[in-house]
Amino acid sequence: MTDILFQKYELRPELQETLETKGFLSPTPVQEKVLEQQDLNTDLIVRAKTGSGKTLAFLLPIFNEDRMTNGSPKVLVLSPTRELALQIAREADWLGRNMHLRIASLVGGTDISVQIKDLRRGASVVVGTPGRTLDHLRRGTLKLEDVHTVVLDEGDHMLDMGFRDELEAILDAIPLRERTWLFSATMPEEVLRLSRRYLSDPRTISLVDEGEQHSEIAHKVYMVPRHGSLDGLVNVLLWEDSSRGLIFCHTRAQTLEVTERLQQEGFQVCCINGDFSQRERNQSLASFKSGRVSLLVATNVAARGIDVPGVKHVFQFGLPDDLDTFIHRSGRTGRAGNKGKNILILNLRETSRFRSMVQRTKIALEWLPVPDGDDIKTRNRSIYEEKLLNQDLPEKKDIHAWAESIISRTDPVHLVTRLLQLADRKIPGGYDLKRELQKEMATKKPEARTERTSPSQGRSGKRERPQRERGTEIRLGLLNTSGWNVGRVLRSVCSSLDVDRKEVAQITLLEESVKVELLDLAYEKYTRNPSSLKRWGLIPEETSPRKPEPRNSKRPARAPRERKPSKVRSR
Ligand code: ADP
Ligand code: MG
Repeated sequence: MTDILFQKYELRPELQETLETKGFLSPTPVQEKVLEQQDLNTDLIVRAKTGSGKTLAFLLPIFNEDRMTNGSPKVLVLSPTRELALQIAREADWLGRNMHLRIASLVGGTDISVQIKDLRRGASVVVGTPGRTLDHLRRGTLKLEDVHTVVLDEGDHMLDMGFRDELEAILDAIPLRERTWLFSATMPEEVLRLSRRYLSDPRTISLVDEGEQHSEIAHKVYMVPRHGSLDGLVNVLLWEDSSRGLIFCHTRAQTLEVTERLQQEGFQVCCINGDFSQRERNQSLASFKSGRVSLLVATNVAARGIDVPGVKHVFQFGLPDDLDTFIHRSGRTGRAGNKGKNILILNLRETSRFRSMVQRTKIALEWLPVPDGDDIKTRNRSIYEEKLLNQDLPEKKDIHAWAESIISRTDPVHLVTRLLQLADRKIPGGYDLKRELQKEMATKKPEARTERTSPSQGRSGKRERPQRERGTEIRLGLLNTSGWNVGRVLRSVCSSLDVDRKEVAQITLLEESVKVELLDLAYEKYTRNPSSLKRWGLIPEETSPRKPEPRNSKRPARAPRERKPSKVRSR
């Protein structure tokens, strides 16, 4: 967002007031670029990424003109999906409310007679999908004689979705349009062809910079075993722990399979795909938007451009069809300057293909093996342990008495073991996938091409990935050797380095010291100021940090508990 205020553009008072009421004070960069054009009576091509505020970028200057009157359609906006079209119509509706502008939305899956009524009442702005709009045109219920402005929103995707014929038929029916504005995040050859045919001497406004485009999004690739991709997805979801995530699948059938599986696993999840009725879609979207469910599973098409604010994670399950799809999907997170994570879940074969897909981009990717069930369990146990020891609970006399009576009957270690056993059933763990993945990695011949090409990280030989993904291990001396447990170490490390628990991959208590495996951020903070740990009773050792041993090697005894490899995650 810029420091420039909408006031600078001398918008008509109705619009200025509406924006203020809505709390929109400054234009987004694309809005600024369009609003500052001296002459807007020309054809335009506008390129800006998803979530950059393109809708108002075209609505504002159009609504600001004197010739916006009801009676007949003056402006036609075409958009590839129902959701997008409805979203634009809603935005046009609130923006034009003070001007009493009537909006008609012409989309499939809703009652056509309502649409006909809206048109008869003299809507001045028509927002539609190409299919339904053409339908109205052919029925004679939509008249386009007075249309002076046509906006093609998400031009690239309208063509991707096969709306070429419809688009051309509609544009051919408005030969006297004064200007056509094409909005598109990408400019593949087909869009250029369309623009050459229907736009005359367009001016291009581009806010797309391939390298910088998604700088607020962190991209990660998790590699999963070939026959365990759904298990892998479960592990990734548990590890990333998203309170608001969008999961992309290839096909409608896959969205159902994934949704069902995740529901069985106890995730709060819902689904949208093209087979859903409008009502079902709205229901799913509403549950996701309200936060009732934390994960939404969708196909590209169904999710295209839907504006859900605050998506923290995008999960792309399987290889994206192409680079554009990958980029577009990732644009669902990190919107309006927020930080987002874009996460791919790929098997090894898909991984190689994906490497060549991103080879020539500047997108920085982190390549990781899928988090293993063990790792997930360990981390969640630490969290539980910390809660157990530190969460404020109201003192309950009867429970206290119960504790005393039960301790008098049995050995405390035996008792705590049993209690933890019960608690552990509810502590989420994941599937044991590491061994299978390592086997696949070992049998897969290292490809020369892959060894060489890592778009962002220099060397990334696959075979050494398992070690590389681990954090960095440091050893810390313990000021007092008594009273330490994994939870206390975790708390101390997190507090002193001011990092999230997730930044600590592993803690192994030894007699007089502790081994702590720190992920990148935590390790970086540690190296900047190792002595920050001293105040918490942890003394950095002089020795330089090591990469931890591979996990399948013999592990040192860990106190206070020893993990068992979990075959199946318990939930
Ligand atoms: P795009 O079409 O580029 O994907 P949208 O037009 O859907 O993006 O806008 C994304 C979100 O940003 C919407 O929720 C919209 O209401 C909001 N938005 C747009 N312009 C502004 C602005 N100037 N100030 C604050 N929020 C805005
Ligand atoms: Mg849009």
